[in-house]
Amino acid sequence: MSANKSFPPVYTDPAQQASENLRQVIPLVNKHRTPINPVNYAVWYEYVSGDNQKLNNEIDNLLNNNQLVSSKITQSLYEKYVLQGMPERLEKANSGLSLVVDNTLNNINRVESSTNDSIADLTNSQSTLDNYSDIDELKVTVKDILNNTQTLLSNSHTLKQNLEQSSQEIEQLKQELAAVKEIAQTDALTGLLNRGALDKELSTLCQQAIRKAAILLFDLDHFKQVNDTFGHIIGDKILQFFSSILKSEVGDEHIAARFGGEEMVLILFDASQQEATEFANTIRTKLVESKLQQTKDGQQIGSISVSVGISFFQIGDTPTSLIDRADQALYKSKENGRNQVHVN
Ligand code: GH3
Ligand code: MG
Ligand code: MG
Repeated sequence: MSANKSFPPVYTDPAQQASENLRQVIPLVNKHRTPINPVNYAVWYEYVSGDNQKLNNEIDNLLNNNQLVSSKITQSLYEKYVLQGMPERLEKANSGLSLVVDNTLNNINRVESSTNDSIADLTNSQSTLDNYSDIDELKVTVKDILNNTQTLLSNSHTLKQNLEQSSQEIEQLKQELAAVKEIAQTDALTGLLNRGALDKELSTLCQQAIRKAAILLFDLDHFKQVNDTFGHIIGDKILQFFSSILKSEVGDEHIAARFGGEEMVLILFDASQQEATEFANTIRTKLVESKLQQTKDGQQIGSISVSVGISFFQIGDTPTSLIDRADQALYKSKENGRNQVHVN
Protein backbone atom coordinates (compact mmCIF):
# COMPACT_ATOMS: atom_id res chain seq x y z
CA MET A 1 0.00 0.00 0.00
CA SER A 2 1.33 3.48 -0.79
CA ALA A 3 0.36 6.20 1.65
CA ASN A 4 -2.16 7.99 -0.53
CA LYS A 5 -1.54 11.56 -1.64
CA SER A 6 1.79 11.86 -0.01
CA PHE A 7 4.73 13.77 -1.42
CA PRO A 8 7.31 12.38 -1.64
CA PRO A 9 5.43 9.08 -2.07
CA VAL A 10 5.85 6.60 0.79
CA TYR A 11 5.41 2.86 0.23
CA THR A 12 4.67 0.73 3.26
CA ASP A 13 3.64 -2.54 1.63
CA PRO A 14 4.98 -5.58 3.37
CA ALA A 15 7.54 -7.53 1.31
CA GLN A 16 5.02 -10.15 0.22
CA GLN A 17 2.56 -7.58 -1.14
CA ALA A 18 5.35 -5.63 -2.83
CA SER A 19 6.57 -8.81 -4.57
CA GLU A 20 3.05 -9.61 -5.69
CA ASN A 21 2.81 -6.08 -7.15
CA LEU A 22 6.13 -6.63 -8.93
CA ARG A 23 4.78 -9.85 -10.44
CA GLN A 24 1.78 -7.95 -11.82
CA VAL A 25 3.67 -4.85 -12.96
CA ILE A 26 6.31 -6.48 -15.19
CA PRO A 27 3.87 -7.94 -17.77
CA LEU A 28 1.98 -4.61 -17.88
CA VAL A 29 5.12 -2.56 -18.56
CA ASN A 30 6.16 -5.08 -21.24
CA LYS A 31 2.71 -5.20 -22.80
CA HIS A 32 2.75 -1.44 -23.33
CA ARG A 33 6.24 -1.74 -24.84
CA THR A 34 7.86 0.65 -22.38
CA PRO A 35 11.19 0.15 -20.61
CA ILE A 36 11.17 -0.93 -16.97
CA ASN A 37 12.52 2.32 -15.56
CA PRO A 38 11.61 3.95 -12.22
CA VAL A 39 8.91 6.19 -13.73
CA ASN A 40 7.08 3.44 -15.64
CA TYR A 41 7.48 1.08 -12.71
CA ALA A 42 6.10 3.60 -10.18
CA VAL A 43 3.04 4.36 -12.32
CA TRP A 44 2.13 0.71 -12.85
CA TYR A 45 2.95 -0.13 -9.23
CA GLU A 46 0.47 2.53 -8.10
CA TYR A 47 -2.01 1.14 -10.61
CA VAL A 48 -1.87 -2.48 -9.42
CA SER A 49 -1.89 -1.46 -5.75
CA GLY A 50 -5.19 0.36 -6.48
CA ASP A 51 -4.56 3.16 -3.95
CA ASN A 52 -4.29 6.03 -6.41
CA GLN A 53 -7.86 6.31 -7.66
CA LYS A 54 -7.41 9.20 -10.09
CA LEU A 55 -4.38 7.57 -11.71
CA ASN A 56 -6.33 4.32 -12.03
CA ASN A 57 -9.28 6.13 -13.66
CA GLU A 58 -7.02 7.68 -16.31
CA ILE A 59 -5.28 4.39 -17.08
CA ASP A 60 -8.60 2.50 -17.14
CA ASN A 61 -9.92 5.03 -19.69
CA LEU A 62 -6.91 4.40 -21.91
CA LEU A 63 -7.20 0.63 -21.54
CA ASN A 64 -10.92 0.69 -22.29
CA ASN A 65 -10.10 2.48 -25.55
CA ASN A 66 -7.40 -0.10 -26.33
CA GLN A 67 -4.72 2.58 -26.17
CA LEU A 68 -1.08 1.91 -25.38
CA VAL A 69 0.18 3.57 -22.21
CA SER A 70 3.34 5.02 -23.74
CA SER A 71 6.34 6.38 -21.81
CA LYS A 72 5.11 9.89 -22.61
CA ILE A 73 1.81 9.12 -20.93
CA THR A 74 3.40 7.44 -17.89
CA GLN A 75 5.72 10.46 -17.49
CA SER A 76 2.74 12.79 -17.35
CA LEU A 77 0.79 10.46 -15.00
CA TYR A 78 3.87 10.21 -12.79
CA GLU A 79 4.18 13.97 -12.47
CA LYS A 80 0.45 14.46 -11.99
CA TYR A 81 -0.48 11.65 -9.62
CA VAL A 82 2.73 10.27 -8.09
CA LEU A 83 4.50 13.59 -7.58
CA GLN A 84 1.08 15.26 -7.34
CA GLY A 85 1.75 18.03 -9.80
CA MET A 86 4.68 19.20 -7.68
CA PRO A 87 7.04 20.06 -10.59
CA GLU A 88 4.21 21.92 -12.33
CA ARG A 89 3.28 23.89 -9.20
CA LEU A 90 6.90 24.82 -8.54
CA GLU A 91 7.35 25.80 -12.19
CA LYS A 92 4.18 27.94 -11.99
CA ALA A 93 5.26 29.67 -8.81
CA ASN A 94 8.71 30.26 -10.29
CA SER A 95 7.53 31.75 -13.56
CA GLY A 96 4.90 33.78 -11.65
CA LEU A 97 7.67 35.28 -9.56
CA SER A 98 9.80 36.12 -12.62
CA LEU A 99 6.77 37.77 -14.23
CA VAL A 100 6.07 39.96 -11.22
CA VAL A 101 9.71 41.01 -10.98
CA ASP A 102 9.85 41.76 -14.75
CA ASN A 103 6.63 43.79 -14.62
CA THR A 104 7.81 45.75 -11.62
CA LEU A 105 11.15 46.55 -13.29
CA ASN A 106 9.36 47.59 -16.51
CA ASN A 107 7.02 49.87 -14.57
CA ILE A 108 9.89 51.45 -12.69
CA ASN A 109 11.83 51.97 -15.96
CA ARG A 110 8.80 53.52 -17.65
CA VAL A 111 8.14 55.91 -14.77
CA GLU A 112 11.83 56.72 -14.53
CA SER A 113 12.07 57.72 -18.19
CA SER A 114 8.89 59.82 -18.03
CA THR A 115 10.14 61.45 -14.81
CA ASN A 116 13.48 62.22 -16.47
CA ASP A 117 11.62 63.96 -19.33
CA SER A 118 9.66 66.10 -16.88
CA ILE A 119 12.81 66.98 -14.93
CA ALA A 120 14.55 68.00 -18.19
CA ASP A 121 11.57 70.24 -18.99
CA LEU A 122 11.68 71.74 -15.51
CA THR A 123 15.40 72.46 -15.91
CA ASN A 124 14.63 74.25 -19.19
CA SER A 125 11.94 76.23 -17.42
CA GLN A 126 14.41 77.21 -14.73
CA SER A 127 16.87 78.62 -17.25
CA THR A 128 13.99 80.48 -18.96
CA LEU A 129 12.98 81.95 -15.59
CA ASP A 130 16.55 83.12 -14.98
CA ASN A 131 16.43 85.08 -18.24
CA TYR A 132 12.76 86.12 -18.44
CA SER A 133 12.03 89.55 -19.83
CA ASP A 134 8.27 89.83 -20.21
CA ILE A 135 5.26 88.77 -18.19
CA ASP A 136 3.64 86.64 -20.96
CA GLU A 137 6.74 84.55 -21.29
CA LEU A 138 6.70 84.10 -17.52
CA LYS A 139 3.07 82.96 -17.63
CA VAL A 140 3.87 80.30 -20.24
CA THR A 141 6.81 79.07 -18.21
CA VAL A 142 4.81 78.85 -15.00
CA LYS A 143 2.15 76.84 -16.86
CA ASP A 144 4.85 74.46 -18.10
CA ILE A 145 6.16 74.08 -14.58
CA LEU A 146 2.68 73.27 -13.33
CA ASN A 147 2.16 70.70 -16.11
CA ASN A 148 5.46 69.02 -15.39
CA THR A 149 4.78 68.94 -11.66
CA GLN A 150 1.41 67.35 -12.45
CA THR A 151 3.13 64.70 -14.58
CA LEU A 152 5.61 63.95 -11.81
CA LEU A 153 2.77 63.57 -9.34
CA SER A 154 0.80 61.27 -11.58
CA ASN A 155 3.95 59.21 -12.31
CA SER A 156 4.56 58.67 -8.65
CA HIS A 157 0.88 57.74 -8.19
CA THR A 158 1.07 55.18 -11.03
CA LEU A 159 4.28 53.75 -9.63
CA LYS A 160 2.70 53.41 -6.19
CA GLN A 161 -0.32 51.60 -7.64
CA ASN A 162 1.89 49.28 -9.70
CA LEU A 163 4.05 48.48 -6.72
CA GLU A 164 0.99 47.78 -4.57
CA GLN A 165 -0.30 45.34 -7.20
CA SER A 166 3.11 43.68 -7.45
CA SER A 167 3.28 43.31 -3.72
CA GLN A 168 -0.17 41.61 -3.68
CA GLU A 169 0.97 39.23 -6.40
CA ILE A 170 4.17 38.48 -4.51
CA GLU A 171 2.10 37.79 -1.37
CA GLN A 172 -0.06 35.27 -3.29
CA LEU A 173 3.01 33.57 -4.71
CA LYS A 174 4.54 33.40 -1.26
CA GLN A 175 1.42 31.62 -0.01
CA GLU A 176 1.50 29.18 -2.93
CA LEU A 177 5.18 28.42 -2.28
CA ALA A 178 4.49 27.95 1.43
CA ALA A 179 1.66 25.51 0.56
CA VAL A 180 3.94 23.57 -1.79
CA LYS A 181 6.64 23.46 0.88
CA GLU A 182 4.13 22.28 3.49
CA ILE A 183 2.87 19.43 1.26
CA ALA A 184 6.42 18.44 0.40
CA GLN A 185 7.34 18.14 4.10
CA THR A 186 4.21 16.49 5.47
CA ASP A 187 3.33 12.83 5.80
CA ALA A 188 -0.11 12.54 4.24
CA LEU A 189 -1.56 9.93 6.59
CA THR A 190 -0.44 11.30 9.94
CA GLY A 191 0.17 15.00 9.28
CA LEU A 192 3.59 14.66 10.96
CA LEU A 193 6.78 15.68 9.15
CA ASN A 194 7.70 13.07 6.55
CA ARG A 195 10.92 11.12 6.28
CA GLY A 196 12.59 13.59 3.90
CA ALA A 197 11.93 16.50 6.25
CA LEU A 198 13.12 14.44 9.25
CA ASP A 199 16.39 13.61 7.46
CA LYS A 200 16.97 17.31 6.87
CA GLU A 201 16.31 18.14 10.53
CA LEU A 202 18.72 15.40 11.65
CA SER A 203 21.42 16.66 9.25
CA THR A 204 21.04 20.21 10.55
CA LEU A 205 21.17 18.94 14.11
CA CYS A 206 24.43 17.08 13.43
CA GLN A 207 25.97 19.94 11.42
CA GLN A 208 25.18 22.52 14.08
CA ALA A 209 26.18 20.04 16.80
CA ILE A 210 23.10 20.82 18.86
CA ARG A 211 23.89 19.50 22.31
CA LYS A 212 21.26 18.04 24.60
CA ALA A 213 19.14 17.02 21.61
CA ALA A 214 17.38 13.71 22.19
CA ILE A 215 16.10 11.33 19.53
CA LEU A 216 13.07 9.30 20.60
CA LEU A 217 12.29 6.39 18.28
CA PHE A 218 8.78 4.95 18.74
CA ASP A 219 7.62 1.62 17.28
CA LEU A 220 4.05 0.44 17.83
CA ASP A 221 3.93 -3.02 19.35
CA HIS A 222 2.57 -6.01 17.43
CA PHE A 223 1.12 -3.70 14.83
CA LYS A 224 1.02 -6.37 12.16
CA GLN A 225 -1.30 -8.31 14.43
CA VAL A 226 -3.48 -5.20 14.94
CA ASN A 227 -3.83 -4.89 11.15
CA ASP A 228 -4.53 -8.61 10.80
CA THR A 229 -7.22 -8.48 13.50
CA PHE A 230 -8.97 -5.17 12.73
CA GLY A 231 -7.93 -4.41 9.15
CA HIS A 232 -5.67 -1.76 7.60
CA ILE A 233 -8.22 1.05 7.82
CA ILE A 234 -8.40 0.74 11.61
CA GLY A 235 -4.60 0.36 11.58
CA ASP A 236 -4.35 3.69 9.76
CA LYS A 237 -6.71 5.33 12.27
CA ILE A 238 -4.57 4.10 15.15
CA LEU A 239 -1.49 5.58 13.46
CA GLN A 240 -3.37 8.88 13.18
CA PHE A 241 -4.48 8.71 16.81
CA PHE A 242 -0.95 7.99 18.04
CA SER A 243 0.39 10.83 15.88
CA SER A 244 -2.14 13.22 17.41
CA ILE A 245 -0.75 12.35 20.86
CA LEU A 246 2.78 13.05 19.59
CA LYS A 247 1.71 16.36 18.04
CA SER A 248 -0.03 17.61 21.15
CA GLU A 249 2.93 16.63 23.36
CA VAL A 250 5.69 18.21 21.27
CA GLY A 251 3.92 21.50 20.52
CA ASP A 252 5.99 23.98 18.51
CA GLU A 253 9.18 23.52 20.47
CA HIS A 254 10.24 20.08 19.29
CA ILE A 255 9.89 17.97 16.15
CA ALA A 256 7.60 15.01 15.45
CA ALA A 257 8.04 12.96 12.27
CA ARG A 258 6.99 9.67 10.72
CA PHE A 259 10.15 7.62 10.29
CA GLY A 260 8.32 5.00 8.21
CA GLY A 261 5.43 2.55 8.64
CA GLU A 262 4.46 2.34 12.34
CA GLU A 263 7.65 4.05 13.49
CA MET A 264 7.79 7.70 14.55
CA VAL A 265 10.62 9.94 15.72
CA LEU A 266 10.66 12.88 18.07
CA ILE A 267 13.57 15.29 18.30
CA LEU A 268 13.56 16.95 21.70
CA PHE A 269 15.76 19.98 22.09
CA ASP A 270 17.53 20.86 25.29
CA ALA A 271 16.43 17.71 27.11
CA SER A 272 18.26 15.90 29.88
CA GLN A 273 18.20 12.10 30.01
CA GLN A 274 15.57 12.23 32.74
CA GLU A 275 13.40 14.72 30.84
CA ALA A 276 13.55 12.72 27.61
CA THR A 277 12.70 9.49 29.44
CA GLU A 278 9.77 11.15 31.22
CA PHE A 279 8.56 12.60 27.93
CA ALA A 280 8.66 9.18 26.27
CA ASN A 281 6.90 7.56 29.22
CA THR A 282 4.13 10.17 29.19
CA ILE A 283 3.42 9.39 25.52
CA ARG A 284 3.72 5.64 26.05
CA THR A 285 1.27 5.78 28.98
CA LYS A 286 -1.20 8.00 27.13
CA LEU A 287 -1.38 5.50 24.29
CA VAL A 288 -1.60 2.33 26.33
CA GLU A 289 -4.26 3.81 28.61
CA SER A 290 -6.46 5.03 25.75
CA LYS A 291 -9.64 3.03 25.41
CA LEU A 292 -9.85 2.63 21.66
CA GLN A 293 -13.01 1.39 20.05
CA GLN A 294 -14.22 1.03 16.50
CA THR A 295 -16.55 3.82 15.43
CA LYS A 296 -18.82 1.66 13.30
CA ASP A 297 -19.94 -0.84 15.95
CA GLY A 298 -18.29 0.43 19.13
CA GLN A 299 -16.30 -2.83 19.42
CA GLN A 300 -13.32 -2.51 21.78
CA ILE A 301 -9.91 -2.54 20.07
CA GLY A 302 -8.14 -3.10 23.33
CA SER A 303 -4.93 -1.67 24.51
CA ILE A 304 -2.27 -0.65 21.97
CA SER A 305 1.25 -0.13 23.25
CA VAL A 306 4.44 1.39 21.94
CA SER A 307 8.11 0.72 22.62
CA VAL A 308 10.67 3.51 22.67
CA GLY A 309 14.43 3.85 22.20
CA ILE A 310 16.27 7.06 23.05
CA SER A 311 19.67 8.38 21.97
CA PHE A 312 21.40 11.72 22.54
CA PHE A 313 23.48 13.75 20.14
CA GLN A 314 27.21 13.29 20.66
CA ILE A 315 29.99 15.20 18.90
CA GLY A 316 30.85 13.40 15.64
CA ASP A 317 27.36 11.90 15.24
CA THR A 318 25.74 11.54 11.82
CA PRO A 319 21.96 11.11 11.32
CA THR A 320 22.62 7.39 10.82
CA SER A 321 24.68 6.92 13.98
CA LEU A 322 22.09 8.86 16.03
CA ILE A 323 19.20 6.75 14.74
CA ASP A 324 21.24 3.55 15.06
CA ARG A 325 21.76 4.15 18.78
CA ALA A 326 18.06 4.90 19.28
CA ASP A 327 17.28 1.72 17.35
CA GLN A 328 19.53 -0.36 19.62
CA ALA A 329 17.72 1.06 22.66
CA LEU A 330 14.38 0.33 20.98
CA TYR A 331 15.50 -3.24 20.41
CA LYS A 332 16.10 -3.58 24.16
CA SER A 333 12.57 -2.29 24.88
CA LYS A 334 11.15 -4.87 22.47
CA GLU A 335 13.31 -7.68 23.83
CA ASN A 336 12.38 -6.90 27.44
CA GLY A 337 8.69 -7.30 26.72
CA ARG A 338 7.63 -4.12 24.83
CA ASN A 339 5.59 -1.14 26.17
CA GLN A 340 8.72 0.40 27.73
CA VAL A 341 11.48 2.96 27.25
CA HIS A 342 15.24 2.41 27.03
CA VAL A 343 18.07 4.92 26.64
CA ASN A 344 21.30 4.27 24.79
P1 GH3 B 1 6.86 -5.33 16.85
O1 GH3 B 1 6.17 -5.27 18.16
O2 GH3 B 1 8.05 -6.22 16.89
O3 GH3 B 1 7.21 -3.98 16.34
O4 GH3 B 1 5.84 -6.00 15.85
P2 GH3 B 1 5.12 -5.35 14.62
O5 GH3 B 1 4.06 -6.29 14.16
O6 GH3 B 1 4.68 -3.97 14.96
O7 GH3 B 1 6.30 -5.22 13.59
P3 GH3 B 1 6.40 -5.62 12.07
O8 GH3 B 1 7.61 -4.86 11.56
O9 GH3 B 1 6.40 -7.09 11.91
O10 GH3 B 1 5.11 -5.07 11.40
C1 GH3 B 1 4.86 -3.71 11.20
C2 GH3 B 1 3.46 -3.60 10.68
O11 GH3 B 1 3.08 -2.25 10.50
C3 GH3 B 1 3.29 -4.27 9.35
C4 GH3 B 1 2.71 -3.23 8.46
O12 GH3 B 1 1.65 -3.71 7.67
C5 GH3 B 1 2.19 -2.20 9.42
N1 GH3 B 1 2.15 -0.88 8.81
C6 GH3 B 1 3.19 -0.15 8.36
N2 GH3 B 1 2.74 1.01 7.82
C7 GH3 B 1 1.40 1.01 7.92
C8 GH3 B 1 0.38 1.93 7.52
O13 GH3 B 1 0.62 2.99 6.95
N3 GH3 B 1 -0.90 1.57 7.80
C9 GH3 B 1 -1.22 0.39 8.43
N4 GH3 B 1 -2.49 0.14 8.68
N5 GH3 B 1 -0.27 -0.49 8.79
C10 GH3 B 1 1.02 -0.20 8.55
MG1 MG C 1 8.58 -1.54 13.08
MG1 MG D 1 6.09 -2.48 15.43
